Amino acid sequence: MKIMKFGGSSVANGERIKNVAGIIQDEMKKGHVGVVLSAMKGVTNLLISASEKAEKGNKGFLKDLEEIESKHEEAVGYLFSADSGKSIKEKIKNQLHELRDVLHGVELIKECSKRSMDFIMSFGEKLSCQIMAAYLNSQKIESQFIDSSKVVRTDNTHGNASVNFEVSYSNIQEIFKSMKGIAVITGFIASTEDGITTTLGRNGSDYTAAIYGAGLNSEIIEIWTDVDGVLSSDPRVVKSAFVVPEISYEEAMELSYFGAEVIHPYTMIPAVDKNIPIVIKNTLNPSAPGTVIAKDVKRHNNVITGIACIDDVAIVNIEGGGMMGIPGMASRILDEIAKASINIIMISQASSEHSICLVMKQSEALKAKEVLESKLKDEIRHKMIHQISLRTDHIIIAVIGENMRGTPGISGKLFSSLGENEINIYAIAQGSSERNISVVALKKDKEKALTSLHKAFLE
Ligand code: ASP
Ligand code: MG
Repeated sequence: MKIMKFGGSSVANGERIKNVAGIIQDEMKKGHVGVVLSAMKGVTNLLISASEKAEKGNKGFLKDLEEIESKHEEAVGYLFSADSGKSIKEKIKNQLHELRDVLHGVELIKECSKRSMDFIMSFGEKLSCQIMAAYLNSQKIESQFIDSSKVVRTDNTHGNASVNFEVSYSNIQEIFKSMKGIAVITGFIASTEDGITTTLGRNGSDYTAAIYGAGLNSEIIEIWTDVDGVLSSDPRVVKSAFVVPEISYEEAMELSYFGAEVIHPYTMIPAVDKNIPIVIKNTLNPSAPGTVIAKDVKRHNNVITGIACIDDVAIVNIEGGGMMGIPGMASRILDEIAKASINIIMISQASSEHSICLVMKQSEALKAKEVLESKLKDEIRHKMIHQISLRTDHIIIAVIGENMRGTPGISGKLFSSLGENEINIYAIAQGSSERNISVVALKKDKEKALTSLHKAFLE
């Protein structure tokens, strides 16, 4: 059994859907496959945009809705003849109608909770998968549409729900017992115990593929996208970036957390659990070998595997003599940030304990500073904390790789390469796993930093 997941760009229009159907057909000859799809490219964004507009009573949501409608209608028009497309056209029309009603409801009550948003977003995957299933059937490839909101079980954290693996695996096995032909499965969506629709977080279809793969003990999970695999760095910035043929689960997690948008980081969780290899493949170049993500991989000879970058981060620095030797200060700070639902990407504190530096998304940093100033006002008044400052327009650069473990001299090389190029470093962090060294630099130095590090370590 093989699970194949195709992302939004792979099903962006009728032509691409047809291309994917061809890839599925080729794979079927080799063995049993299950297919997980994302919504058509841009549809989830449009659904969010429409909801947000409708909530504000902004009629612009109708324009987004029309765009969603025409994307699906055009695809159906391309894939089916007037005759063969009758029943799918009817189905799509009814669901688009329902979507229109729901958005109209949001407009009337001027409220769109996260729960409603999940329901609205679920239309994207349901529509793309029904179109694919109908198209495969029209091509005499027996297939069945699977709505994951009836299969994958989560808690009720709408927008980013946590999966109950035990129940989900058992539901998946149950469904596949009587499966005839190819299952065309909605990615991204799930539901609570009470059947309320939830979602697994943006780009969560990869994760869905891994959940089905693990539930079925499949031999392999393929993630089909529109790049040749995991790259050594961002090819838009580093011209000499190359595809890495094999990486470990841990490296893949490190790289994906750090903005290599090839795969959702959670995808590795079910795969590691059942030791199932994940392969990244390109729908536009199916014969390319891609990148294999697995437990035991052939090691390459470079000391690092890749260089990743997170754009648009800011540093919140908390300084003060009164923090030295006082237990619990870091925990207080982190706790207040967590309560404000702000995610910290990187932390560093030097051993003098005189300051703690938090790195987060720029869009959240001002709020973080304000939260800390208000919650720690007593410490500030008593001069234990001297100041809380904010530095914007930074990036995090991370060098990542399994071979770094126990290899001396990597930080030295990193810093000297950046130093020679006159790139200043504002903060540094390395976890004891030694698979990742992260540094914060100025946004304006991005290209210089990435290309010089790529040259120093990988060329
Ligand atoms: N359609 C969802 C999104 O755009 C899930 C996915 O594409 O994986 O986030
Ligand atoms: Mg995606």
